[in-house]
Amino acid sequence: MHLTEELIQRKILEGELPANFNGRTRAGHGEGHACKLCGEKIDASKVEYEIEGRNAAGATRIIRLDGECFQAWLVQTDRNH
Ligand SMILES: [Zn+2]
Repeated sequence: MHLTEELIQRKILEGELPANFNGRTRAGHGEGHACKLCGEKIDASKVEYEIEGRNAAGATRIIRLDGECFQAWLVQTDRNH
């Protein structure tokens, strides 16, 4: 799946991804969860990034991204600063 800036921005607007990076991220081996951005399974051979975000109600939740999607998301959040 080709990742576009539009897709990331849309997911940020829809609340699917955090708009800003607060530094609370943990990287580790994939555990088979689906990447929140591209939807592909992150298996143990890949790095999984767990981003701490908040939903509209202010509740903390964990969003999982693979390395490629994490970097793509990070670039977009920098533009929102
Ligand atoms: Zn992904």
